[in-house]
Amino acid sequence: MKSLIDLIQVDLIIEALWLCPVVPSNTLLEHQAVVIRSGKIIDICAITHAHAQYEAIETVSLNEHVLIPGLINLHTHAAMNLMRGLADDLPLMPWLERHIWPAEQKLVSPSFVYDGTLLACAEMLAGGITTFNDMYFYPESAAEACLKMGMRGNLGLAVLDFATQYANDAEGYIQKGLEARDHLRGEALLTFSFAPHAPYTVSDTTFERIMTLAEQVDIGVHTHMHETQQEIIDSERMHGLRPLARLANLGLLGPNLTLAHCVYLEEAEIELLAEHGSNIVHCPSSNLKLASGITPITKYAKYGVNIGLGTDGAASNNRLDMFAEMRLAALLAKGQSGDATAVTAYQAQEMATINCAKALGLDDKIGSIEIGKLADLTAVKLTNIETQPCFDPASHLVYSAGREHVSHVWVNGDLKFHRPKGGEDEYQNVEPQELLDIVAKWQTKLNEFKSK
Ligand SMILES: [Zn+2]
Repeated sequence: MKSLIDLIQVDLIIEALWLCPVVPSNTLLEHQAVVIRSGKIIDICAITHAHAQYEAIETVSLNEHVLIPGLINLHTHAAMNLMRGLADDLPLMPWLERHIWPAEQKLVSPSFVYDGTLLACAEMLAGGITTFNDMYFYPESAAEACLKMGMRGNLGLAVLDFATQYANDAEGYIQKGLEARDHLRGEALLTFSFAPHAPYTVSDTTFERIMTLAEQVDIGVHTHMHETQQEIIDSERMHGLRPLARLANLGLLGPNLTLAHCVYLEEAEIELLAEHGSNIVHCPSSNLKLASGITPITKYAKYGVNIGLGTDGAASNNRLDMFAEMRLAALLAKGQSGDATAVTAYQAQEMATINCAKALGLDDKIGSIEIGKLADLTAVKLTNIETQPCFDPASHLVYSAGREHVSHVWVNGDLKFHRPKGGEDEYQNVEPQELLDIVAKWQTKLNEFKSK
């Protein structure tokens, strides 16, 4: 036993009954302490050892919980939380053309994006998500909301080839995006990607320009790809090529490219993505709801393609719930492949954490509970009736528990969300009533775009 003088001073010790660190894979530890100083994990050790070694300003005991890395939502349009349930039970194009795009054309503004993103961040934090990969207009407003909530965000600098409220042409989008990035570059919680919307809304010239700029400023590219079969048929007619082949010809494939959906890929295309180290975002709920199809991720994984999970926007899901996506990803993979061992509980967790971190180029900082990484952590309580008995917490995280069982969420070792036993949800930086007032304000304005 060291004397008090010898104890190492730290900020926080989290004592967890169970710990699922994600790296190394298939690992579950018991009675572990995660020791945090200056926002970083400096030790992971037995609880008794931690007390002999460290003196913490605060100690949190999680004796009914499993501690996991903060979840990462690899594909969303956060501001679209304001359009949750605005139009349902429609295929992608009529849904976009008749409801979403007209509503956006009329209402999207910096305040729309700030308010919608604030709601999304609140929903995500309460569901154990600490980082999101966004794609929407006015990224500087999304950034402001993200920083207010204290979340980590990779903000997409949206680019389209047609005019919207936000910009007139591709060059306008690019310039506004780069200005936003320049303005926010010092923020440790923020990173950026170019986010050309999709091959059917962005021309070859614009993709080429984005590729050059992305290399120059060293940021990634995030786009929608092969979400529907129709999109592929249309591309073959217009360009004589499938959308992915178009991007490949333009030289866009590489480890910095993240492709949302990829519901339909041919063998050669899967090989190509694996070869170039490009990333896929599997969004099972959104693909089912818009009847786009079921992405055969088991097949993609066999080729070694990096697959992360995303919710897509709240208008097409309608929840930003990574527990739901993990469960659905595992169940669909089994059902589709006819193999019950496809996408294990541990693999589903990797898809919601470390694989997403890799796609964002942040796997040296987040995505697992390891010494030296940032303390983005989520605690999940497993003592409720619906999560009992608990033989295997890793299995429960995917098959039994839900986001309602999240009790604590830390970003950089700072408690951003807490759901006390029997109490009201507590956010560090916002009152729940403030969020409800925001919803009420926008709901009136959005009413006219509702599906009948
Ligand atoms: Zn999307």
